[in-house]
Formats: sequence, C-alpha cells, structure tokens
Amino acid sequence: PRRRPLNVDELYEGIIRGDRTALARGITCVESEAPRHQVIARELLRRCLPHSGNSIRIGITGIPGAGKSQFLECIGKLLCDADERVAVLAVDPSSSVTGGSILGDKTRMENLCRDVRAFIRPSPAGATLGGVAAKTRESMILCEAAGYKVIFVETVGVGQSEVAVRSMVDFFLLLQLAGAGDELQGIKKGVIEMADAIVVNKSDGDNVRRTKVARGEYARVLQHLHPFTEGWQPKALCCSGLMGTGVWEIWEMVQEFCEKLKAENRFDEIRSKQNAKWFRSLLEQRVLDAFYAKQSLDGEFAQLEIDVSEGRIPVIEAVETLMT
Ligand code: GDP
Repeated sequence: PRRRPLNVDELYEGIIRGDRTALARGITCVESEAPRHQVIARELLRRCLPHSGNSIRIGITGIPGAGKSQFLECIGKLLCDADERVAVLAVDPSSSVTGGSILGDKTRMENLCRDVRAFIRPSPAGATLGGVAAKTRESMILCEAAGYKVIFVETVGVGQSEVAVRSMVDFFLLLQLAGAGDELQGIKKGVIEMADAIVVNKSDGDNVRRTKVARGEYARVLQHLHPFTEGWQPKALCCSGLMGTGVWEIWEMVQEFCEKLKAENRFDEIRSKQNAKWFRSLLEQRVLDAFYAKQSLDGEFAQLEIDVSEGRIPVIEAVETLMT
C-alpha cells in the first residue's frame, strides 16, 4: 500500500506520544534535501524544541573494531532494563576510499534494536560531514521530544567527525584498546584532549591485565592535559562490552558528571554556548554558499582566482577588489 503523505500535525503528535514510527519519519524529513520535507522539518523542530533538552547527550568514539557497537548494545540494554529510553544516533563520515560507511552496513546492535525502549538510527548517507552533523543535532531534538532521556551519538575515531560530535554532546567518551601497538593507536592527540573519559574496552579473558596497564597509562596522560570540560578531571576506566563488566560504572560516572555540572549551574550554560556556536557556524556556511553562488554568475571572481593562481595579482589585493 502507498504510504500516506507526511503531515506535520500527525508527525508532531506521534513524536510527543513517543511513537517510534513517527519519530523515524520525522528524522527522515530532517535528513531530506527535498524542499517539501524541509518545510515540514522546520515546523516539526519549532514545535518539538520546547519539549527537548531533558536528556543526557553522550558522544562515543573509537577506531573501527574498538567495540563501539557491542558497548552500545550492552549499556543500552542495561539502561533499558532500568527503564530508561535510549536513542543511538550515528555520525559517520563516508569513507573516501570505498565510498561506504565506516561504522559498517552490517546489522549492528541487534538486541538493542529489538527493545521497544530503544531507538537506533544510522547515519544519513551521502552528505558531507558538516551536513550530517547538522542533521544529527536536529534529530537529537526530535528524539528528546519523543521522551528519549539518554542520547548516544556514535562516531568513528578517524579524526574528522569527533569535533562535530564533541560540540553537540554533554559527555564525550573515547573507547580504546589495550596494547594494539602504539599507546595512542592512531587516535589523534586532539581526540584524547576532547575526552571526558577514556575507557579501555575488551577487558575480559586474557586481556584483563593488559587493559589495566593501559588504563594506568591513560590516567597518567590525562593528568597532564587540560580538562576539556572545565572542572571535570577526565577519567580512565576499563570495561568489557562483551561481558558487561565495568559498564554500569561508566553510566554512574556520567551521572556524577551531570550532577556536578548541574550543581554548579554549568550544564545548561555549556549547552547554550553550543547552540550559539552552532548558530554561527550554520549562518557562516549559508553566507559563504550565497556568496559563492553569486560570484559564479559574475566573471570577476573567476578571473581574479586565475590571476592569483598564476601569481599575477597579490592575494590580498584580489580579496580587497572583490569586497569593495
Ligand atoms: P566497532 O567497529 O567499534 O563498532 O566494534 P564492534 O562492536 O563491531 O566490535 C568489533 C569486534 O570486537 C567484534 O568482533 C566484537 O565481537 C569484538 N568485541 C567487541 N567488544 C568486545 C569485548 O568487550 N570483548 C571482546 N573480547 N571482544 C569484543
């Protein structure tokens, strides 16, 4: 049967009721480039915004194979069993080599998928990182309006998407492995500096001792870094997403973090700053796009670009010429 056309009132009421199908269709509108969907998405966001914000937003990163999906499956299930509603959103910059997704097209988090208290949404395909990140922020608002109190935003620790995810979450968690060669295993130092916690995963079986050693090393590294979240000393922990050991302790740490920041009135302040920053970066992108769209209709820009490329005019002079 043909799907009924999208209707803002129905979507909104469905989302507020916590209906997962309405939420999924709402997010589809948010992700869509079609002008008709964008109109619906904007109206939905406007209505959902007053119902959003009552959540904890947790970013998870780590290299492919670090065990992110197994960890999310485990912590997600524990939270659902404690009667929390959990959403998992992914920010996945498509691989420039394969054109495919790095987080993987395999069926991930199969058990969590089946839980009615969980909502899992893979990354929107085929968009630029900036675009995907903007859509994830908006999807997060719809999830919160639908009553999801714990929002995980998952990304791959390969260097591009972490900054975007860090800027939209309260708590940022880096999953690491022990003894996979280099202590920092290809994770950029910048990512370590953004973390509120480093968790050495797969701490089970023969691996327990090595993960404890690695945890000690990370604890030392963290002590020498300036905390990303002012007033929170980042922690190093071990867990096994497979066996479930140490996973609930991670949730307790996140709660401790929230309580501390809320007691100091900084939780909402940090979110306000994130919003203001997001506003500026969206605006800047739009202004730039509009600027370039206009230039392409006019030969002066193209000519100046050739002139600076070939060294005929100083760059500064070409910029001044365009701006005046
Ligand atoms: P992702 O790429 O970061 O999402 O990693 P996955 O969750 O897909 O896990 C990668 C591989 O590591 C899979 O074969 C998992 O079964 C395995 N794995 C994940 N978590 C654990 C763990 O806690 N302990 C052990 N021993 N293996 C794990």
